[in-house]
Amino acid sequence: MEEVRTRFPPSPTGYLHIGGARTAIFNWLFAQKTGGKLILRIEDTDEERSSEESIQGIIESLKWLGITWDEGPYFQSQFIKDHLAAAHKLLESGHAYKCFCTKEDLDRKREEARRKKTALQYDGTCRNLTPEEVAKKEAAGMPYTIRLKVPRGEGSVIFADIVYGIIEKKYEDIEDFVIVRSNGRPLYILSNAVDDIRDRITHVIRGQDGLANTPKQILIYKALGAPVPKFAHMSLTLDPNKAKISKRTHGELVAVHFYKEHGFLPWAFVNYLALLGWSTPDSRQIFSKEELIEAFSLEGISRANAIFDVRKDDPKFFTDPKAISINAHYLRNLPVEEIEPYVKAELEKAGIWDPEFEGAKRNWFLRTVDLIRSRYHVTTDFVTLGRAYFSDDYPIDPKALKKNILKHEGLKVWFPILADRLQALETFTVEETEQVIRETAEALGIKAGILINGIRTAVTGQAVGPGLFDVLIAVGKRRVVERLKKAVTFFE
Ligand code: GLU
Repeated sequence: MEEVRTRFPPSPTGYLHIGGARTAIFNWLFAQKTGGKLILRIEDTDEERSSEESIQGIIESLKWLGITWDEGPYFQSQFIKDHLAAAHKLLESGHAYKCFCTKEDLDRKREEARRKKTALQYDGTCRNLTPEEVAKKEAAGMPYTIRLKVPRGEGSVIFADIVYGIIEKKYEDIEDFVIVRSNGRPLYILSNAVDDIRDRITHVIRGQDGLANTPKQILIYKALGAPVPKFAHMSLTLDPNKAKISKRTHGELVAVHFYKEHGFLPWAFVNYLALLGWSTPDSRQIFSKEELIEAFSLEGISRANAIFDVRKDDPKFFTDPKAISINAHYLRNLPVEEIEPYVKAELEKAGIWDPEFEGAKRNWFLRTVDLIRSRYHVTTDFVTLGRAYFSDDYPIDPKALKKNILKHEGLKVWFPILADRLQALETFTVEETEQVIRETAEALGIKAGILINGIRTAVTGQAVGPGLFDVLIAVGKRRVVERLKKAVTFFE
């Protein structure tokens, strides 16, 4: 069996977005599954729109996702000579011709065709120029484009797309398209195909928007005598209103780096993206890397467009709830040591990292992360909702403050009593703290819940969290006592 070679050729005109990442992931999964190779190729020939910053951004995002490539990055701009050499080869073999029609000629012809309601195709004026005529025009310094000589008469380009099935395009519906501009620059459609030939690509897995190019590119392959790769076109990624996901409409919310910055674990995000427009063999949602590679198949890519449920203005979720729930699954269930570096990175970013958390306090740190993560969705939750565990400088949720503390004036005197009783404990355990708190409530003739909710808010700044007595142990006696004493100032 021939080795599978796939490619991911982004145009570096912006960040790596959800759609591009999905294409990269499918190419990567297929290469991994078949023991093949993935080639990273940067299509940077649009000089005006390409930027070095974007190249770096795309590479960084791929690395963050864990998408590995076997060759490249190659840069399309470095192969322009090859693209032109291919065009000349096509001229020599009679598969292409020089076209001297000027822009004005073409505009006029198009106008005429529009009037007569005939096909808006190049009419082939220069297709049959004799070698002498061509030589004369060239000698006169007339600029020319190079056009592919599309077969004429009955017949069509037919190919079996792995996702969309048999696709047929009649020759008569394909004009003799330009492959080299009059300024001597190759057209993208040629460069892309020539690069695929040079890189010996066996499977072109790309967005459905590439489908319009495919019949023409197959003609280029054939004319160059190169084997035609297999094609798998992927459905588009749309938002819930069926609009194409784009930087213009959705801004950063569709950028891969946004997810990195907003607390996603890279594999969770890959897992989520892989499920966009790919039907799993069963209803499973969670796949380890090995499982995903094992389960993946190009045939499973769905023809229906994938919906990315962007939630721009939803106060609860900042993105697709499915993405959030998959991330939460990993965040809560991976071995805590695997989460540790991500939590560390968040704490560092927030300026509350203490090197002891990976030194003398590491056991405490891991236990605490494990305790609080059961309610978290994204790693940033550790420094927002979980800040009080790692720093003494933490905010108090105003709603919780009102409901759990300020509403109960008595806490002004109860907190110090409690603080003293907890301080007096010799061992600070779940059982003992619970006993002290319940006994205090009883002695004061109030519901234990009032104390429990009040303490939680004072000690963590939050209205909800894990079981309070576990929380107290995690925060530690000294800090619990301090925080309860300080909480009386809320009433001032
Ligand atoms: N550079 C193209 C894009 O970013 C890739 C097209 C292809 O895969 O052939 O859309």
